[in-house]
Amino acid sequence: MVGALGAGALVLALAVSGGSGAGAQPAPAGSVSVVPPATATADGAGAVTASGATPSTEEDAAPAGKKEKKEKKEKKEKKEKKVRIPERGPGTFVRADVDGPKVGDGGRLLRYAVKVEKGLPYDADETAREIQTTLSDPRSWVGGEDWRLELVSQPARADFTVFLATPGTVDRYCWPLRTYGRVSCQAGNRVMLNAWRWAHAADAYGADVGAYRQYLVNHEVGHRLGHNHVGCPGKGKRAPVMMQQTKSVGACQANPWPSPKRRS
Ligand SMILES: [Zn+2]
Repeated sequence: MVGALGAGALVLALAVSGGSGAGAQPAPAGSVSVVPPATATADGAGAVTASGATPSTEEDAAPAGKKEKKEKKEKKEKKEKKVRIPERGPGTFVRADVDGPKVGDGGRLLRYAVKVEKGLPYDADETAREIQTTLSDPRSWVGGEDWRLELVSQPARADFTVFLATPGTVDRYCWPLRTYGRVSCQAGNRVMLNAWRWAHAADAYGADVGAYRQYLVNHEVGHRLGHNHVGCPGKGKRAPVMMQQTKSVGACQANPWPSPKRRS
């Protein structure tokens, strides 16, 4: 419902601005009196769509060395090649056909499967390997001898499933938790990763999408292992992985790991 409202507001905004242009089409008879004043509540989703669609046509006019220019151009192209994540998907998933080893020295063994929603620009097997690499790191939950984890291809064998899903599907699966199309959640044995975040990360991580993904996986799986949110312990310190770093790290430094100092 919220998404439909947002799209409606956007269409309305376009219609209003188009109407003042020279070559604007006359509105169909009867429609003018129906159009409400521009108080239509533009929700967050609508605003994001509008600003995100603005193409950058800015040219770099400053003189620069050939190499420098080339580097700048490459950087710019990288920035513009942002992945497009559909706001909604079919709610059906591709199961990752990957099995991994049991990882961890001791503790309870939990098996997990990975599924990626159809229509997303992510391969299920690749995504599963990326998630597995994070969860197998000694700085992750398996390093503490409380948990062992094993990636399995058969969801029937899994204790929990990690879903990479469109914002709309995350909102549906997480309800009554409110994810607003922009955050992720854990609900029972479902760990729901928001593909919009998977693509775009969060302010605290800047352009380091890889580190943000490590944070997201560790944080949401941390909920499944029974961990709750904590705050920043002090200015300049590492943010705990169970801090809501997608929102902000406050005075802390971004940190994707439960035990960042631990080494293999
Ligand atoms: Zn959380």
